[in-house]
Amino acid sequence: MTSKEPHILLLAGTFEARSLAKKIEERFPNIRITASFAGVVRDLPDLGVPTRIGGFGGVDGLVAFARAEGVSAFIDATHPFAAQMSRNAFEAASRLGLPLLRLERPAWSSTPEDTWKSVLDMNAAANFLPAGSRAFLAVGRKEISAFYHRTDLIGIARMIEPPPTPLPDGWSQVLSRPPQDPDAEVSLFSKHGITHVVAKNSGGTRAYAKIEAARRLNLPVVMIERPVLPKTNCASTVSKLMVKLGEIIAGQGSEGAVSGEGFQV
Ligand code: NAP
Repeated sequence: MTSKEPHILLLAGTFEARSLAKKIEERFPNIRITASFAGVVRDLPDLGVPTRIGGFGGVDGLVAFARAEGVSAFIDATHPFAAQMSRNAFEAASRLGLPLLRLERPAWSSTPEDTWKSVLDMNAAANFLPAGSRAFLAVGRKEISAFYHRTDLIGIARMIEPPPTPLPDGWSQVLSRPPQDPDAEVSLFSKHGITHVVAKNSGGTRAYAKIEAARRLNLPVVMIERPVLPKTNCASTVSKLMVKLGEIIAGQGSEGAVSGEGFQV
């Protein structure tokens, strides 16, 4: 990395990205950092660092952005289901020979008190639900249409912003971020007479209340497992990622070696 000013592109979209931005700024004040959001939702958090919003235009666009802005390393702190962005980051980093670190929080696993059906994707989840279920669908506005053909279901869909195409007749929409209080989820599920909970295996604590509520109410959970991503240098927590970043910056990490030059701070 010969650029005058080291520049980290932080692909954001998770709660952890906020604390990463702060920690990188504090620990490496001479490093430029740019955060990036897809811009899918409007009320984006302020990460306290320069931020851009919107897609790059695929891998080619990301490569062009990285070249134009002198990006010297990528951090992928996107949501575990933002697979396209993660794949694009992997491909762009490979093409440019730049380090890539991914923050990958551990997936949830079931306890003996849980009844989970693990499925590979949205379509499998939609097909699994028994006829006539009253399903709580916590799958996201872009994915909810995978369930629309199940007109025999009553869907109660929670998402932050409305879906691009309206829900089928008779379904309900709950527009909110997931509450962190399991009691709130228990009362929501009870109010709607929910029989099945459909969730993405996002991991972390911020969306876990629904899983705990399902356990308390003895409701089956259809758990959509994570998409498979290209193998790269991963850390499961912010602090572990900071250690790896420190190594790369010092030119000690394997990725620093790949770039051949390390960071000039
Ligand atoms: P995606 O399918 O991986 O990304 C689709 C496209 O959005 C990417 O190809 C990229 O466009 C753009 N994009 C995504 N993340 C970006 C970022 N951080 N900065 C700039 N552009 C970005 O991801 P998604 O459509 O956002 O979401 C897919 C799943 O992840 C859904 O289940 C969603 O609920 C979940 N999720 C995502 C976020 C998020 O912040 N992205 C947050 C929570 C949950 P270009 O190809 O044009 O560059």
